[in-house]
Amino acid sequence: MARKLIAGNWKMNLLRPEGTALARDLALRLARTVDPAFDLLVCPPATIIAPIADAVQGSGLLVGGQDCHSAQEGAHTGDVSARMLADLGCSHVIVGHSERRQDHGEIDLMVAEKAAAAQAEGLVAIICIGETEAERNDGRALQVCSRQIAGSLPQGATAENTVIAYEPVWAIGTGRTPTTADVAEVHAHIRAALGARVPSEAAGIRILYGGSVKPGNAAELLAVPNVDGALVGGASLKADDFWAIAEASAG
Ligand code: PEP
Repeated sequence: MARKLIAGNWKMNLLRPEGTALARDLALRLARTVDPAFDLLVCPPATIIAPIADAVQGSGLLVGGQDCHSAQEGAHTGDVSARMLADLGCSHVIVGHSERRQDHGEIDLMVAEKAAAAQAEGLVAIICIGETEAERNDGRALQVCSRQIAGSLPQGATAENTVIAYEPVWAIGTGRTPTTADVAEVHAHIRAALGARVPSEAAGIRILYGGSVKPGNAAELLAVPNVDGALVGGASLKADDFWAIAEASAG
C-alpha cells in the first residue's frame, strides 16, 4: 500500500500572507524530514494557489484545488477548470465535497464529470462521499456510500488518478467522529464497492477518512484498516496541528 496521504482542505479561509506563510512552514518541516512516511497536500482557496505553488515548489509539499469545473474552458463565469489548476502546479483536486453537494446542488453525475476532467488533465481526483446524520440514524450509511461510489467514480478511475475521501457529513466541523469500529466498517465497505467497480485498481486506491480529525484522535483513526490517510479541514489551518496529524500517520 502507498504511503498515507494527509490532505488539508483550507476551504474559504486565509489570504495570501498567512496562506503563504502556512505553506512555507509546512514545506520547511517536510524538507527537514528524512524519508517522510506520508504524502502531504494542501488545498488552498483558488485565489492563492499560484503564490503558494510558487513558494513551495521543489519542497515535496503537494498543492491541490478544492473544486473544478467539468469543462476545461469556456463560458462558465466564476469557475475554475482542472486545466487551470494543473497550469498552476496542482497535483490534486477535491471534488464532490459535501459542502459543494449541499451549497451548489452537486449530484453524483456532476462529481463524476469533474473527476473525469481532473484526471484528463493529469490531476488526482479526491472524490468525497459520506452519509448525513439522518442517513446514518436510518442505518443507511453503507448504502449511501456504495451509491455515491457507483455514481461519482468516472470511467477510467485508477489507483494513480483517484483517491476516495469518506467524510460523514455530520462529523465535518462538529468535533464529532464515528467510532473506529464504524470507520473500519465503512472503509471496508468502500474497498469492496471499489472492487466491484474497478476490480484491478481497488486495492491501490487510497481511502481517506475526513471529519473532525485532530492531533488528539489522528493516530487511532489513521491506524484503522483501510484508512490510507486523512482529509483535514479546521486542523489544517494551523501548521503545528496539521503536522502533528501527519506525524501520527507514521504510526
Ligand atoms: C472537511 O471539510 O473536509 C473536513 C474534514 O473538515 P473538518 O476537519 O474541519 O471536520
